[in-house]
Amino acid sequence: MNSPSPTRKVAVVGGTRGIGAAVTSTFVRAGHDVLLTGRSVPDVVLEKFRAEATREGQTVEGLALDSAAPDSAERLAEAVSALLGGLDVLCLNAGIFPNRPLAQLTYSDIREVFAVNVESQMLAVAACLPLLRGSAAGRVVLTSSITGPVTGFPGWSHYAASKAAQLGFMRTAALELAPYGITVNAVAPGNVATEGLDGMGEEYLAQMTATIPLGRLARPQEIADAVEFLSGERASFVTGQVITVDGGQTLPESPEAVLPVTTTARG
Ligand code: NAP
Repeated sequence: MNSPSPTRKVAVVGGTRGIGAAVTSTFVRAGHDVLLTGRSVPDVVLEKFRAEATREGQTVEGLALDSAAPDSAERLAEAVSALLGGLDVLCLNAGIFPNRPLAQLTYSDIREVFAVNVESQMLAVAACLPLLRGSAAGRVVLTSSITGPVTGFPGWSHYAASKAAQLGFMRTAALELAPYGITVNAVAPGNVATEGLDGMGEEYLAQMTATIPLGRLARPQEIADAVEFLSGERASFVTGQVITVDGGQTLPESPEAVLPVTTTARG
């Protein structure tokens, strides 16, 4: 097998903000060619990423694409082919997390969350498969969550189900794509300080912080570092796996198991 090129062709779906922006930045700063998507990709966001490019002739492109649209996977694959000329790494990060207690949950709430969080990812992998098969070391990295696969949280049953569903998809996709040398893995963040949590309020954030043994929320870059590892040569023999990046949030048996954090230890 050919060894992977040091310069990789990377697509980051949901790469404009939060965790996805940290993932985009990480690949751009490493000199890779990157196409990022979001429902909108404002010029100011694209210019910020372009300013981080480290290589002459490096491609950094944006594509406004609603992952929930039925043709989004085909449009993604077409854009990747046209703008990057191939694909080595497909990061599927776009996700939504509207709060909806079960008593109010509707069919359309479930449809919306599953369309963005799961179905678009499955269809994106299928549509991009011909491109990934052309890579010497194809990689798919999904952004899942601890919510669903490991934990639950009232108000997020549809979200939790979607995040667990991603991992079911991942395991079978890893088996189907292994013959082509393509790995399929996931990161499972705990609570991450992103714009997506802005509306949750101080009380929610304080409650969350109290449940995290390392005493703080994750920085988006800490999730991006795990994505970068799974996308790279050092993870060449890892497939169908999940890296949990949660500061120990899924470990305590009870609140008493979370010890006070000293100020010097806080990152
Ligand atoms: P965020 O700040 O809200 O950013 C979400 C990203 O996805 C943005 O780039 C957004 O761009 C894009 N996006 C959302 N809906 C989209 C759609 N329909 N089509 C295309 N792009 C879409 O979210 P985040 O906190 O970084 O979360 C990112 C991922 O991590 C999600 O899958 C989430 O479930 C997961 N996660 C987050 C946390 C956390 O604590 N933050 C914890 C565990 C897992 P546009 O708005 O322009 O569309």
